[in-house]
Amino acid sequence: MNPAPRKPIRLLILLAGVASFIVSCQTIPDPEIAEESPDPEPESTVATPAELGTEPKPVAPVAPTKEPKPKIVRKPAGGIANQAERLGAVAKDLGDGVWQVEKASRTLELREGSRNASLDGTVVILHEPFDLGKDGFALSESDFENTLRPAIEAPSLKLRSRVVVLDPGHGGAEPGSVNQSLNVLEKDLNLDVSLRLQELLEAKGVKVVLTRYNDRLVPLEDRSEIANRSNAGLFISIHFNSARNIEASGIETFALTPAGAVSSNDSQVGEGSGQFPGNAFDAANFELGFRIQSRLVDDLQRIDRGLKRARFKVLKDLECPGALVECGFLSHGKEALLVNTPVYRQKLAESLAESILASLPEEANKT
Ligand SMILES: [Zn+2]
Repeated sequence: MNPAPRKPIRLLILLAGVASFIVSCQTIPDPEIAEESPDPEPESTVATPAELGTEPKPVAPVAPTKEPKPKIVRKPAGGIANQAERLGAVAKDLGDGVWQVEKASRTLELREGSRNASLDGTVVILHEPFDLGKDGFALSESDFENTLRPAIEAPSLKLRSRVVVLDPGHGGAEPGSVNQSLNVLEKDLNLDVSLRLQELLEAKGVKVVLTRYNDRLVPLEDRSEIANRSNAGLFISIHFNSARNIEASGIETFALTPAGAVSSNDSQVGEGSGQFPGNAFDAANFELGFRIQSRLVDDLQRIDRGLKRARFKVLKDLECPGALVECGFLSHGKEALLVNTPVYRQKLAESLAESILASLPEEANKT
């Protein structure tokens, strides 16, 4: 379900001769997206399954016969079926424009014409729509390699150490998101959650480094540098969101966009879409982001905005897997009240601690 359905902008797109409406929504003009990412368009062009459920489905021409036959929806065996087979998985057509790709314990659900997918029930945003090609519905090559493969192979993270670097977003002169009526600044919540998480992880014998321990501004490039100097096994940047649409709410997690792929809040590959040091961990970044997002949504029972990809500056130069978490919207009246309570922030920290602890290597490899 689209959490931010207000004021939709309708775009008419011609695809394979089939006119389909894709509804674009104003979702995330989060300040740090503009600051940390070269991706020029902060507004989402992702259509939701609910919206696309009413789309007209492409219909194959029916050969003329003497007896009337029902119209047959064209779903050739190529496309996603072949892509699944290449990874030792099985694709199933569930009807109503929904497909499933299964392998072992993982199931990725796809919707025809949509960028919204679901991995074991957690929303994952595709780089490009799951669309009709010459061999039937298929994922783009970019999604085959960077979404389907890590989604169903559940790659090992292979972390180099048990050192965790936490990055409380913003600080000092840069408040991040602001809720004026509650007098709450994002930078303060980011630091509060990070300090709670530090305590939980250290209680389990994990070495934790924060990019800032108080209210000061740390340049973006210094944040990944601190992680690299610390021999970090994992890097987590902690933020809270805001949007012009005051109905937008929920949790989303970002992994670095793979080289040449489209970021989640864009509709095409922009400039600066090449290879960065952090792209050495594309598969691990996906898996880490998925684990964090999945557990947060389960534990906090907030709207699942999905695992997304963006070229945030704090993620680009990492020499370890990393993720940026948006823990809730300060621009949403009720959610702001919630995130402003220590109880909720402790739950956030506990959920993040569980994801991190489950991902760290065994004690024997401790550095
Ligand atoms: Zn932020």
